[in-house]
Amino acid sequence: MNHIQQQPQPRFTAKAMIAFIAVILLVLSTSGLLNQLRANPLLFSYASPISLPKFEQGMIGKQVTYFQEQDVKLSLDEAIERFQGQQVRISSNDSVSLGIGVKPVWLKFSIINNDLSDLSYRLAIETPWLDHIDTYLVQNGRLVRHVIGGDALPFEQRPMSYRFYAFEHNYPVGITDVYIRVESIGPMAIPIRLSTSEQAIALDLAAGYQYGVLYGIMLALALYNLVLYVFIRQKEYGLYALYLIGFVLNSLSYTGQIHAVFTPHFGPYFQDWVDIFLMITYSIAGLHFARLLLNTKAYAPNLDKLTIRVTQIIPIGMVVGFLFDQLVFSILLAFMLNCGFVTLFIAMGVYAHKAGKAFAVTFLVSSVTAAVCITISTLAVAGLLVPYNDYTFKAIEVGMAFEAILLAVILAQQFRMAKLDKLLAESYARCDTLTRLNNRFGFNAVVSPIWQNIVREKREAAVMIFDIDDFKSINDTYGHSAGDKALMQVAYCVESTKRSGDVSARWGGEEFIVFLPETTKAQALVQAERLRKALMNMVIDAGDGITFQLSASFGIAGSEDGQFEEKLLAKVDIEHLINQADNALYKAKNSGKNQVQLSSELAQV
Ligand code: GH3
Ligand code: MG
Ligand code: MG
Repeated sequence: MNHIQQQPQPRFTAKAMIAFIAVILLVLSTSGLLNQLRANPLLFSYASPISLPKFEQGMIGKQVTYFQEQDVKLSLDEAIERFQGQQVRISSNDSVSLGIGVKPVWLKFSIINNDLSDLSYRLAIETPWLDHIDTYLVQNGRLVRHVIGGDALPFEQRPMSYRFYAFEHNYPVGITDVYIRVESIGPMAIPIRLSTSEQAIALDLAAGYQYGVLYGIMLALALYNLVLYVFIRQKEYGLYALYLIGFVLNSLSYTGQIHAVFTPHFGPYFQDWVDIFLMITYSIAGLHFARLLLNTKAYAPNLDKLTIRVTQIIPIGMVVGFLFDQLVFSILLAFMLNCGFVTLFIAMGVYAHKAGKAFAVTFLVSSVTAAVCITISTLAVAGLLVPYNDYTFKAIEVGMAFEAILLAVILAQQFRMAKLDKLLAESYARCDTLTRLNNRFGFNAVVSPIWQNIVREKREAAVMIFDIDDFKSINDTYGHSAGDKALMQVAYCVESTKRSGDVSARWGGEEFIVFLPETTKAQALVQAERLRKALMNMVIDAGDGITFQLSASFGIAGSEDGQFEEKLLAKVDIEHLINQADNALYKAKNSGKNQVQLSSELAQV
């Protein structure tokens, strides 16, 4: 406890946090700008065409040229003119990514079919949240097909009733120019994939299995922790389960699966808002879980308060955004919370580590890994630094699964520690702190099952009580600590002379008890005499070269051969036997001390 109080109070200011979140937001919103700076403005708007059937399957970002509309919506003809006018950019990335809340973008690429007949290919834009997508297929300057889609359309009106925009087309021999216009207020990430139908289905199946495994693990963990919560009533388990479920829902929503599978008829308005609220449920549950798990309040109160505020203010802001129908505002808040989630997690881990909290290192490893994976995916979607591909897009899921499993490990460790603590507390409760012998409570706990067994099986048993003679004067003469030392030595002497089945305890101040199963009164007498002599021979060092010795008086009660059988057993209890031994001890004290007395009553009721 002291250790924690000595820690300097963390100077975690809300301002620093807000500044950090602001920087992240800035990066997110300017990522499009940076990307555009990175993209090469071309003198000739020429990107190499895609050659079929040589082209196998994959992302075609690098064969795409694009530009953004200014304030006026362009027609196809105007766009074609613009592409011919060379004022366009060529993507240097697999995905054209322009940031959040940006102007509509036109993209163009050409497909050359070198085969002898039509070739059917599927074109897919794998970002499920893009609002309006129009694809125009142009041959010999003639528009042959216009494919309208995007998640602003109900599923049944999309080219394929699928979780993202996709359509199949028979590309005839020769050149087909493909123009795509994308308009969206969410992050403008446009990963375009061209593949055959079979390849697309194979990819989809693989993705299905991957998501199935991931969600399966997460939901099984969630269910298990929910059960723990219901039975143990410890909030951590409940919050952890919520965090996992929230994570699965979030993933289902931003990969478009939730709407494709569960809510296809609810319309785009519903989908947009559900998506962003699902986006924050796992962060909120996760943050509160971490607060409780690490007990942040105890050593980083400001960080704790900040965490609570963040999980209150941002959702309220989002609800306000919902009431005023400000989707972009609410999206930005949701992104802010999710960036804050990662940062706060790491901050909590750091403070927990500084405060010497158990599991802090595991927690840090898990949260930093998750943060790195989330950053990779975010950068990939934003088109910065990391290439956009299957691995970078799914890094977020892998990182989160890793984190979830490590957090489960922490919960399990915590459970084990709580159990060990309980065992330790129990053993302390039964133990005398000075001599480490049983105390009365411990003695009764150990002896009572043995006693019952003896009664049931009609066997012998004896009890020996002894009290150190004139201990008060030992204390007075040599000091209290010398008295303590004497008590410890006596305890050691008792332990080392007793047989393995005997149970000893400190019965009171300088009074000890030994329970001797399978022992008659006569045998106990022999034992007591041996102990009495051993105690008499004991030399105690009082310091400063002063030593002293002591003696003790003994009382014994127990069965005599055959006595304990039939008539008495069921009626006699251990307290009765102890009282008899106590009476015998009293007799020993009154008869001059330093001796053993047997109870005169023969184990009678
Ligand atoms: P008698 O021979 O009749 O037993 O005399 P006594 O002085 O041993 O008995 P009494 O009950 O008068 O005194 C017991 C003393 O033991 C008094 C108390 O201060 C001392 N005592 C009890 N517990 C402890 C302890 O944990 N440490 C020390 N140093 N002394 C203790
Ligand atoms: Mg005494
Ligand atoms: Mg006493």
